[in-house]
Amino acid sequence: MDYKKYIADVVDFPKEGILFRDITPLMAEGEVFKSACDEILAFAKKVGANVIVGPESRGFIFGCPVAYSMGIGFIPVRKPGKLPRETVSMSYDLEYGSNELHIHKGDIKKGQKVLIIDDLLATGGTVNATIQIVESMGAEVVGCAFLIELEDLKGRELLKNYEVFSLMSYK
Ligand code: 5GP
Repeated sequence: MDYKKYIADVVDFPKEGILFRDITPLMAEGEVFKSACDEILAFAKKVGANVIVGPESRGFIFGCPVAYSMGIGFIPVRKPGKLPRETVSMSYDLEYGSNELHIHKGDIKKGQKVLIIDDLLATGGTVNATIQIVESMGAEVVGCAFLIELEDLKGRELLKNYEVFSLMSYK
């Protein structure tokens, strides 16, 4: 499947100088969306995941169908102020400033095998902070799966100790 046909390149979004890879055309084509989810599902089975963790908001879109297909749980990773109960959090640096991610305390159990699913791997800051939270809860990260990998931003270098899957890669 030529998935790249279904990714729209948007110049200067969300700010000047950024080339944004828009995945919504892929989501709008039922067969293509299903095929993308199925490929991530095959990876999830291969690494033996028994829970899926997905960062907001596009991690939800691909993480939930995989969790549903396997009959396992989906745990959302959210920005500050979104989760109503006590959370475990981790902050990470952005180009300008920093960001913080949260997971509800107790949602991930010790020893669980976690697959992290997001739409895109860029610098790796998001997935790396998510890994820190998951591991601090005593669970094991068995893999990280993405639709898109932006190779030049070298996010994969932060993930040397993990199994990484991406459907498409851009230089
Ligand atoms: P990172 O933390 O690896 O630098 O950035 C990855 C995060 O930013 C992901 O959660 C992803 O949703 C978002 N992101 C950054 N750039 C893009 C982009 O060009 N397209 C899409 N769809 N998401 C992006």
